[in-house]
Amino acid sequence: MVKAAYLHIPFCEHICHYCDFNKVFLKGQPVDDYLAAMKQEIELALKMDPVEKLDTIFVGGGTPTSLNERQLARFCGIIRQHFPAGPNLEFTFEANPGDLSQEKLQILKDAGVNRISLGVQTFNDELLKKIGRVHRAKDVFRTIEIAKKTGFDNISVDLIFSLPTQTIADFKDSLEKAFSLEIPHFSAYSLIIEPKTVFYNLMRKGQLQTPGEDIEAQMYELVMEEMEKHGFHQYEISNFSRPGFESRHNVTYWNNEYYYGFGAGAHGYVNGYRRSNIGPVNKYIETVKQGSLPILEEHQVTRAEQMEEEMFLGLRKTKGISISRFQEKFSENPLQLFHNEIDELIRKQWIEVNEDNIYLTKTGRLLGNEVFQAFIGTI
Ligand code: SF4
Repeated sequence: MVKAAYLHIPFCEHICHYCDFNKVFLKGQPVDDYLAAMKQEIELALKMDPVEKLDTIFVGGGTPTSLNERQLARFCGIIRQHFPAGPNLEFTFEANPGDLSQEKLQILKDAGVNRISLGVQTFNDELLKKIGRVHRAKDVFRTIEIAKKTGFDNISVDLIFSLPTQTIADFKDSLEKAFSLEIPHFSAYSLIIEPKTVFYNLMRKGQLQTPGEDIEAQMYELVMEEMEKHGFHQYEISNFSRPGFESRHNVTYWNNEYYYGFGAGAHGYVNGYRRSNIGPVNKYIETVKQGSLPILEEHQVTRAEQMEEEMFLGLRKTKGISISRFQEKFSENPLQLFHNEIDELIRKQWIEVNEDNIYLTKTGRLLGNEVFQAFIGTI
């Protein structure tokens, strides 16, 4: 049964130098037609796979809050009209500091949004400029203040480390400022240089000075230590929260559970099928207008793939994979099924096993992707 929905707004007022998400420059885009198409996509999809009550809704992008007030209210109306909310709905909107006016926050609040995820990245204004962000540190403090005044207490901030020319001292300073916000959740990622970004081109020309792997690893260790010191529990490789404020939506992904994905370039996993949508906005709108679901790719996940995914997604969580839950779901014991891989990873001290869980060690967290690779294509 599907309990989560992701909705994608692909518009941004500025394009950041490191970003490879599905997004377009807002100016001149057919935003109203896009919202109409999303409404139609939702209706078409729910005809095929009807929705029960949802536990989580996550609106991401792009920049969802780049919609103007009228569009934002319309979009929230579409969501609330189509998705019956469970009693404990977690309803998240991604936003950029500086984009969120009092009026927009009130529209979100009135629509039942109860979690805000802010793309802060760093508190160093020079670095913000360098990575192509338009907000500045002062916008973060102001936005959080207005959000709290409007009644939002579940606020998350995204940070990025290992930025070009960033030092450990600088990252430590950003962390201290982040803790001063008194919010219950942080995500912290190291910068990954993705193809088709400004940074990728600079890197190829030898014009991008990144701190390097050693510093990156030290920054990751620093963030883990500092979060713990400040009472934030690391519940996933890149996510830290006060008790009870974990992102339930993201936990859906790591638990390998179903979720709808709506909007241009969105991904979904429903009733055994992983689907990705058409990315370009106009093609997405045209396809939906003709009455078709805007599916670019569809794949029925085999049982072997499901079990492998259960392993490498579940290992992202600090508590790891529950052996009993795996057995209930697949009638197989993961320790037997993957015994070669698990023995090897234990020998390298990248994972550990206790009575019911298989989980990453601290070294394993640093080397996450290498550990996950071990489970791909094994069965
Ligand atoms: S990082 Fe966020 S705000 Fe920047 S271009 Fe990408 S989606 Fe837009």
